[in-house]
Amino acid sequence: MTKSNCDNAMICECCGAAMAFGIVPMEVLYGAGPSQISIIAHIPAWTCAACQDVISAEGAEIAEHNAICDHLGRLQSHEIKAIRDEMGLSQNAFALRMRVSRVTMARWEGGAQVQSAGHNDAMVELLANFRARKTVARPYVYQTDVKHREAASMLFELRVA
Ligand SMILES: [Zn+2]
Repeated sequence: MTKSNCDNAMICECCGAAMAFGIVPMEVLYGAGPSQISIIAHIPAWTCAACQDVISAEGAEIAEHNAICDHLGRLQSHEIKAIRDEMGLSQNAFALRMRVSRVTMARWEGGAQVQSAGHNDAMVELLANFRARKTVARPYVYQTDVKHREAASMLFELRVA
């Protein structure tokens, strides 16, 4: 006599058998055309013991995203948020620091988009600088002029040195 677990039970739509929850390997394709790569991600999923049908469960998409990030040597989505939290920045403020839109930052943190290698390195560098200075985040400069930003940045370095 097995204990019923109706609340968590999942029935296979193909054959009607019970499905079991677990972490399963799944192939993920990243990119397009000749540069497309195949990665094995380990995702939460329901698997039918009878017909082997697999249905991805909640958290599967972020697991696939993070597998791609691992493969590319990029920060995982939760690591980006961890950097932002450590620096004490809002999503909007961190987006300004990275010179991307808040929407883009939200997509990086939500696992909907993989940041470029350049943006990835810039985030790592921001954190390293932040830790090295042991100080509060640099005040934002709202001018779009790059020279203004650089001048403000140099001024800041002088002030905290
Ligand atoms: Zn089945």
